[in-house]
Amino acid sequence: MFSNEVVSVEGRPEPGDTVRVFDRREFLGSGMYNPHSLIAVRLYSDREREFDLDFIKERLRAAREYRGEVLSGEEDYRLCYGEGDGLPGLVVDKYGRHFVVQSHALAVERRLELVTRALLDSFEVESVYEKNDFRLRDPEGLPRREGPLHGVPGRQVPIAEAGARFQVDIALGQKTGWYFDQRVTRRRVREFARGRRFLDVFSYSGGFAVNAALGGAETVVAVDSSVTATGLGAANAAHNGVAECCEFRLEEAFRYLTGLARDRGGFDMVCLDPPAFIKAKREREGGLRGYRTINTLAMRLLPPGGILVTSSCSHHLFWQDFLDMLVGAARDAGREFTILERTSQGPDHPVLLSMPESEYLRCFILRVA
Ligand code: SAH
Repeated sequence: MFSNEVVSVEGRPEPGDTVRVFDRREFLGSGMYNPHSLIAVRLYSDREREFDLDFIKERLRAAREYRGEVLSGEEDYRLCYGEGDGLPGLVVDKYGRHFVVQSHALAVERRLELVTRALLDSFEVESVYEKNDFRLRDPEGLPRREGPLHGVPGRQVPIAEAGARFQVDIALGQKTGWYFDQRVTRRRVREFARGRRFLDVFSYSGGFAVNAALGGAETVVAVDSSVTATGLGAANAAHNGVAECCEFRLEEAFRYLTGLARDRGGFDMVCLDPPAFIKAKREREGGLRGYRTINTLAMRLLPPGGILVTSSCSHHLFWQDFLDMLVGAARDAGREFTILERTSQGPDHPVLLSMPESEYLRCFILRVA
């Protein structure tokens, strides 16, 4: 519930308290309250419930059970995706026995000790690490910080995703260390990459690049503007025994693609997985221009039969907007495409039917006609 939807407040709830929420007379449920945030109330139950240790344990165990169903055999995944798992404001990533926690809400922040306790009671735990150094916390009035809540995570935590093996640097890596959300599209890339010359733009630690190589790509070039990212990527390629066909380059994406366009590239499959260009509604126009430019540049590289895997993780860019942008980019590039597939965030980022905002990752796999 946004702050402008709150008609009246009874009693004297403090920021971070839990409240009961009514729509006129009708009881809606229990929520976390923060009058300083744009999201004044986050509903966490449709009943009258305490937000206590038992509740957190119940929800985390349900989250694990669900992942056991939809990601059978996997040990590494997003264990808790906020509202999608009935725990608004809480993100937990599970790297085997190492857990990384992020909180987006004051009421959760106050209960990080309980969250840690719930994890210790329900899982085999080596470490719990708080990675709360992101910008989205500022409007909630939460300080940025990170550090261990229990134990110490190793520098190279091994994970597996559909049989591919990666090492995650929890403290040094971006976000929580690994982008679990792209697991579905990475599988597709592995299937489509056979015999292709693959370019991974915005590669981070090589999630797509390694999958392309494992899928039998002839050559793989991965570019990222972060030296930490390219270092992690090269190590991950070696870890999977595919270092020989992979090259990780420190490059600014727009400049690199512009340069390739001049000398006609030499790739027949390109993956674009940029950071969110539209982080707020007011960034929409500039962000759309960025998406259009980068997609046009990538499309121009592709020969007939070439494949483009293009993603947006901008919450504010909906499917139709993304599609319209791609139509414009294809026109600029002078190419026609067919849509092979559209994919989204994996099942460990469950989308609530009643909450369209919980879907943010959108990908198209296109083939030059
Ligand atoms: N594809 C990755 C995730 C990409 S996250 C995966 O599957 O894990 C976005 C990446 O883009 C980050 O690693 C960031 O360092 C990189 N990046 C951001 N701006 C960039 C730019 N202008 N040029 C190149 N890389 C950039």
